Amino acid sequence: MFLRYAPLMVPQPTTPTRTGALTRVSPDRQANVLEGMGTVAETDLGSKLGTLLTAVEREHAPLELTAHSVRGEPVTFAEAARADYRPFRVGDRWGPPWSTTWFHVRGRVPAEWAGQMAVAVFDIGFQGNTGFTCEALAWRDGKPWRGVDPNHRCLPISSTEIDFYLEASAIPTAVVAGPAEAPSMIALRESGDPAFVFRQAELRIQDPSARKVALDFKVLYELAMALPVGERRAEIFEALERFARSEDAVELERALSRQSRSTHLITAVGHAHIDTAWLWPLRETRRKSARTFSTALALMDEYPDYRFACSQPAQYAWMKESYPGIYEGIKQKVTGGQWEPVGSMWVEADCNLPSGEALVRQFLYGKRFFMQEFGVDTRELWLPDVFGYPASLPQLIAESGGEYFLTQKLSWNDTNKPAHHTFMWEGIDGTAIFTHFPPADTYNGDFTAGQIVHSAADFKDQDRSSRSLYLYGWGDGGGGPEPDMIESAHRLRSLDGAPQVELGRAADFFARAKQQAHNLTTWVGELYFELHRGTYTSQARTKRLNRRAEQALREAEIWSVAVGTGYPADVFDSTWKRLLINQFHDILPGSSIDWVYEDAEGELEAVIEVAGGVTTAAQSRLAGDGDNLTVFNVNSHARREVVEADGRLVLVDAPPCGWASIAESTPAQVQPVSVSGRVMENGLLRITWDDAGLLGSIWDKQAEREVLTAGALGNALLLHDDNPKNWDAWDVDADYRDNFVRVTDLRSASVEVDGPLRAAVRFTREFGSSRLEQRMVLDAGSRVLRFETEVDWQEEHKFLKVAFPVAVRSARATYEIQFGHVERSTHANTSWDQARFEVCAHRWADLGEPGYGVALLNDCKYGYDILGSVMRLSLLRAPTHPDPAADRGKHRFTYALMPHPGDFRDAGVIAAAEDLNNPLRVVRGGLSMGVRRSLVEVDAPQVVVEAIKQAEDSDAVIIRLYEAWGGRCRARVNTSLPASRAFLCDLLERDRDELAVRDGQLDLELEPFKILTLKLVP
Ligand SMILES: [Zn+2]
Repeated sequence: MFLRYAPLMVPQPTTPTRTGALTRVSPDRQANVLEGMGTVAETDLGSKLGTLLTAVEREHAPLELTAHSVRGEPVTFAEAARADYRPFRVGDRWGPPWSTTWFHVRGRVPAEWAGQMAVAVFDIGFQGNTGFTCEALAWRDGKPWRGVDPNHRCLPISSTEIDFYLEASAIPTAVVAGPAEAPSMIALRESGDPAFVFRQAELRIQDPSARKVALDFKVLYELAMALPVGERRAEIFEALERFARSEDAVELERALSRQSRSTHLITAVGHAHIDTAWLWPLRETRRKSARTFSTALALMDEYPDYRFACSQPAQYAWMKESYPGIYEGIKQKVTGGQWEPVGSMWVEADCNLPSGEALVRQFLYGKRFFMQEFGVDTRELWLPDVFGYPASLPQLIAESGGEYFLTQKLSWNDTNKPAHHTFMWEGIDGTAIFTHFPPADTYNGDFTAGQIVHSAADFKDQDRSSRSLYLYGWGDGGGGPEPDMIESAHRLRSLDGAPQVELGRAADFFARAKQQAHNLTTWVGELYFELHRGTYTSQARTKRLNRRAEQALREAEIWSVAVGTGYPADVFDSTWKRLLINQFHDILPGSSIDWVYEDAEGELEAVIEVAGGVTTAAQSRLAGDGDNLTVFNVNSHARREVVEADGRLVLVDAPPCGWASIAESTPAQVQPVSVSGRVMENGLLRITWDDAGLLGSIWDKQAEREVLTAGALGNALLLHDDNPKNWDAWDVDADYRDNFVRVTDLRSASVEVDGPLRAAVRFTREFGSSRLEQRMVLDAGSRVLRFETEVDWQEEHKFLKVAFPVAVRSARATYEIQFGHVERSTHANTSWDQARFEVCAHRWADLGEPGYGVALLNDCKYGYDILGSVMRLSLLRAPTHPDPAADRGKHRFTYALMPHPGDFRDAGVIAAAEDLNNPLRVVRGGLSMGVRRSLVEVDAPQVVVEAIKQAEDSDAVIIRLYEAWGGRCRARVNTSLPASRAFLCDLLERDRDELAVRDGQLDLELEPFKILTLKLVP
């Protein structure tokens, strides 16, 4: 995630402090080195390296440039080639932010250079204005050729006449670290000032033998600098000194010929982490991919042993659509084994926030793409840069046919560094996955010898395994490996002082490492990331739209299946992909520039609209024509709820995963709800509040106990100062808790609805520059006290939390994650507990003691903290970087408190959270009274149906369900869908076992948190 554009750096010594070449030599060898050194003793080996590198290129011949500037959206090559070009000189300015300039490059290799290797060298302004960067794609003969960026500045020239184009993107870059306010990229799109100075465009001769010597020297020098004082280190320095005196390359070759004595084998995999959107919008990533992939393909031709691992099918799909030549090249190199598709997910998605079903679709679309396009069944989940990994992920990996997991992100933990690099990771259901954290602690390796040496030395599982993976190549903004890295790899293949190194494939590494490793440690539960805790909350509108979009698609699929014909498979395919791409690990977490959220909000609104349209059409077909009311329930439990129909409140009964005609009159058997003064009560709860609208008491009539802590106030809004030291949109620092104010200013309180089915009171508050309206709602017969909230949020660097101190004591609280839940401490006994001062949850969290508990539900929030007996939900943040106005403006969200007797499982907390998120829908139709249908009914309350959809490859129906309590159970499934045969499948809908089905009835056995995917063949 760091931008790491830097010119080639001569490595600087770290230890010991370098005052001259002699200090690097061990004392016992020093005498020998001193002997005969003469004037060379003055030689600075670092300077020598610089001199050698400079000598690789010589001579200069000019290139002629003309330019054509394009504002707004990029144009095709054909369009650009037809345009008028103006004269342009090195030293001229170009590139208003976010514009594109096409440079036509022409020239001639001087005749006297014949027989020598010529390169075109560019600096299009890489080191230009502070905070700006730029990149280009070179086009030759009308085809993408290679990327040109700060780390790929040379284009090899193979003909005398030179004629090609550079498509240069002017990309303003927000400064990444620190609390500074970022520029608005939306505003910069309109800026007219050129931001870059074109500094270099010329031909040079590259001398292969000088290059070889420079790289030989570089690897040895870096290796010596990385080694501890000792014989090998002294020996290398002696060789370097001898070379410096004699200029005899044999001195270097001899030192490089000493074979590695290490048993550790590093598999080095070329890589280019391309953030699908971050400090640039999606449209730029499409071009970044083209640049990076062209470079990778070109390097494969130059280095037949070069291997490049590339994740994110979404980026491949862009190539297929917009750069067919590159895509064809990728296909050939996949077939040849040099290009390795890795990853499994459609994009490298955030894993905290997407719903369980959305994660399934990441695997489904990602893995199917690789299989269909390349015949590759990826076995690894490849998420080097994602901000935490839920304990349900091992099962999802295994159930989609995977075996391995890779990340390195936990090396960034601010409190506890992971204890292992290779281990088994066991999820909530007991599935254990072979997991590897590359010990270089980076996915942007530079292939310096020092990084290789430290990578092996720091590997924490030496006694269990002798293999590790190393990802090298420029990343985040793409770019990928440069030729010198591959050259380093060749020299480090087996070099005394360093581990053994092979250029290889990730898949081979995983297979061999798993086979070779023994006695691996098992880590049980989530891989919580001890950083970036603000990403559960930042960019709240995008998070809300994401939740709504996930639900809208779920509903649209179920009702489309119910219709039985005309399932809009293509609509779902494209709409799901629009959602999935916006779950990328810098989009959904909230860590991107404003432009990205302009795009994301538009796209997610479109997903909701498309899916909503499908649902409306399907429901109107199911309900038919007429004026009777029909209620639709997408959830897999029966519901009795108050709903609004034509402006009236009605209490309705709705069947699971189904619909029913309903009467417009209300069944009598429910105790009414009412408001009087500052008291709201139904048959179960009695709520009172004070002058400031804060809750003083919630009395549970059934349990005969007070819900709130004695003397404490419930629904307390707390406005914290929120000034993270680094990573503004990403981080919440622990000390945010020290400074806060209570929002107690109440402008008005008014009763909006006073029974008998619903009671609602509206509270209006103002604080800072913001305004908050909250409707506190309680329905007849319900334990769920809802707070429907609208905020005009105009704060800066503030964090809004809501708190409920409750009279419940427990050392552990329970939080929903995808397909299950996890427990976390409510104290800070250990450093691991301490670091979890802000955690991620999905629709509910529960604090329970024997006999009683309280759940805090939400309809679009993800950040919680429960310390002692205080339950808090994170509502809004207001960072200024990388989006200067993140989260300012209007927000809507609902949270709810649900006090309950007994355990959260028996009390129906999971169902209540589902219901809060998926309201019943009432439509007019022609169903006669008494008509009801369930697509699926399950007789075990702990079994939840997550999805009902048509199969990807047939007209069979897929039903995904899971055990939600964490226990074993038997369940009988009754379905009204046609089912002549039934199969148990994996998440990719590949059949595993046939199940007995008779009269729409199936019997299942489920283990704790087990996900089952059923396929019903009509
Ligand atoms: Zn990333």
